[in-house]
Amino acid sequence: MSSESTERPDLASDSEAPDFGLLFRSLPGCYLVLDRDLKIVAASEAYVDATKVDYPAIVGRHVFDVFPDNPDDLGTKTVKASRASFESVIADGRADTMPVQKHDIRRPEAEGGGYEERYWSPTNSPVLDAKGRVVYVLHQVEDVTDQVYLERRAQELMAATQEHALRSSRYFQQLLDAAPDGMIVVGDDGRLLLVNAQTERIFGYAKQELIGQPLEVLIPARFRGRHAGHLQRFLASPSTRPMGVGLELFGLHKDGRELAIEISLSQLQSERGMTVTATIRDISERKRLEATTRLLADRLASAIESAQDAFALFGDDGRLDMCNRRYRELMVSFGVEEPLGLTRNEIRSASIGLFVNPEAEGERARFDEQREADWQQQRSSRDMQLVDGRCIRITTSRMLGGGWVQTIWELTEDVRLAEELRAARAAAESASAAKSEFLASMSHELRTPLNAILGFAQLLQRDRKEPLSPRHQARAGEILKGGDHLLRLIDDILDLSRIEAGGVAMSIEPVDVSDVLAEVRRTLTPMAAAQGLRLSLDPAPRELPMVAADRTRLVQILMNFGSNAVKYNRPGGLVTFALSAVDEGHVRALVRDTGIGIPADKQGRLFQPFQRAGQEGGPIQGTGIGLVITKRLAELMGGQVGFRSTWEQGSEFWVDLPVHCSDSQAPPPPVARRDATALKLDGHAQILYIEDNPANVAFMRDLLETLESLELVTASTAESGIAQARALCPALIIMDINLPGMSGLEALQVLRDAAETKHIPVIALTAAASERDKQRGLQAGFARYLTKPVNVDEFASALESVLRDAGASSSAE
Ligand code: ADP
Repeated sequence: MSSESTERPDLASDSEAPDFGLLFRSLPGCYLVLDRDLKIVAASEAYVDATKVDYPAIVGRHVFDVFPDNPDDLGTKTVKASRASFESVIADGRADTMPVQKHDIRRPEAEGGGYEERYWSPTNSPVLDAKGRVVYVLHQVEDVTDQVYLERRAQELMAATQEHALRSSRYFQQLLDAAPDGMIVVGDDGRLLLVNAQTERIFGYAKQELIGQPLEVLIPARFRGRHAGHLQRFLASPSTRPMGVGLELFGLHKDGRELAIEISLSQLQSERGMTVTATIRDISERKRLEATTRLLADRLASAIESAQDAFALFGDDGRLDMCNRRYRELMVSFGVEEPLGLTRNEIRSASIGLFVNPEAEGERARFDEQREADWQQQRSSRDMQLVDGRCIRITTSRMLGGGWVQTIWELTEDVRLAEELRAARAAAESASAAKSEFLASMSHELRTPLNAILGFAQLLQRDRKEPLSPRHQARAGEILKGGDHLLRLIDDILDLSRIEAGGVAMSIEPVDVSDVLAEVRRTLTPMAAAQGLRLSLDPAPRELPMVAADRTRLVQILMNFGSNAVKYNRPGGLVTFALSAVDEGHVRALVRDTGIGIPADKQGRLFQPFQRAGQEGGPIQGTGIGLVITKRLAELMGGQVGFRSTWEQGSEFWVDLPVHCSDSQAPPPPVARRDATALKLDGHAQILYIEDNPANVAFMRDLLETLESLELVTASTAESGIAQARALCPALIIMDINLPGMSGLEALQVLRDAAETKHIPVIALTAAASERDKQRGLQAGFARYLTKPVNVDEFASALESVLRDAGASSSAE
């Protein structure tokens, strides 16, 4: 482009000065020209438009008259600031750029009047004359109202955003603190950036103690390397691990304790770089519970496993959850290979063939129904015979928390054992019965000939018609002594074998032991006198309690001690009976003698059958059974025997008996004992003796011969005896039991059943001497039950009393 171009615009001619006023007014910016008195000289049209004034109306007026402060906005100080700026420009001749001013403009009345808010950015510049003096001030403004508005909006937005951010970060913190798990954020430098309240609780630290610390403070030293490894690996290949599959690790509490924890990790890219967020759960309690549960489960499993019976647990859904080896074996034998997980119905169906015929529909349905009913009960037990011959017992019980427990016993073995036991018991019982039978019959067989020996020996001694010479008297005495010994031996052996067989029933009652001792002493007096011994009875301690004992057996024990004390004594010796309280619960009855004593080396075998402690070959008769019997009898009464003995000085034997608890019970009245008396009878009487053994008949004849008032009639069988009884109606019948043909017991029954014989008293005289025989005989109706060999005194007294009673009742009729 050339300045000489002919295409220049058609401007006013060079000679004519340009219209600067017009030019100025047309400037696109907002300008106002003021004189030194701040009166308006000129204004660009843009200024006039922007301030909504009328140009002619403002020229020559003071600027602040035209543009005053908004009277409604008391805070505005624009006039003041502008004046200061103008004045400084006039005074200094230097331009002044003012900060943005709020200077509201007056709205023309046509537009509603009042003020309109406006912001301006003003610059005041001097206009100098040739001499450099300020003649005008050029006031240039830019309407920045829109910018100010925008900025303000932006600031408002910013404030709102900040407020929101603040609020959400607080919310976020609360949320974190409310989380049930510990949460931490770790920066890529491994330091803690954030922890929540639960973390404080788990590890015992306050937040501020943790923030900025390396993660290691929460890890036990022994795991630090491993943890770091986890973290590094995780950072290398991050993936979120949910809690359920979290790592089980250990944490370190502030107090040094190790905690079982579970950690889940996730990665977070934040403005601080890559961070790891960890969720931490304290599982110490869970671990403890798990360990306890595991222990219990293990114990349960081993207890179940060690059970001898088959054992199974079924869940609520009826499926087999657990069973022991025995159960599995049984199931295999039922045809069920793997029972675990099967329902009870499946197990039943699989093994049905063992229980019922699977083809028989009805049977099967009944079986199913029955078993199902068992399952519905709280507890059921059923014995079943399987088709293969086995017997089982199934017990099913509901468990408290649901489900069932089932046990199965194989009864087959039990049944076999029970059968064996029953057979063994039967064999033992029959052996014992056979033994009793043997003993009874042996006793019978021995007593029968003894009856003749002792009976006739006694008759020989008593024979007044043909008295024996002293020599024969002595020999008859020997016969009696030998017979007596034999009799005692038989009695003792029988007694002992009955005790050993448990056949002796004790009749325990309150017993006054002093009374018993006095009786024993009385009984032994003749025997002691014969040996030139003294018997003494120490006074019993006062208020000695009664004992609980069988009186008859207690007499037997003390008689044995007493007769030994007499037997094994020395002429002029002493036997003392004494009583004492051993302790609160026992009373001791003691027999002391000044006899020969027992050698120390023989004492150990005392109380054993047939042990005579050195007396075997000696002159003193004995069987060696008495002490054994006393010991057994004392034990049967809950007591004990004991002894002390010094060779050649004497012995002490005692029995300790339990005190009877209730003292209120009075002792039974002492039984009146009468001595055997000679037979005294009034008037004439006929006696029928039914006995098959001629020796015994002869003996009886001899015995009754002396009594003239009595006539003896005999019969050798029960049948002929009954006939005689009917014919003669005797005053008394003496009957043997063991007779050829009809027995004595049967004969008694026949006599009792017939009107003409039922009133005749019958005395049994038999060798069947056991207590049981005796009881049976008395129950059957014998007036007396006497055993062979006959004790003449006892027999005479029985005869007398029975005849007297019969006479009394017949005279009463
Ligand atoms: P026995 O029928 O022989 O007397 P016991 O069983 O009553 O049988 O006694 C066994 C043994 O104990 C006797 O043989 C005797 O040696 C010894 N014995 C028992 N009591 C006395 C006693 N008081 N003094 C000396 N020895 C005694």
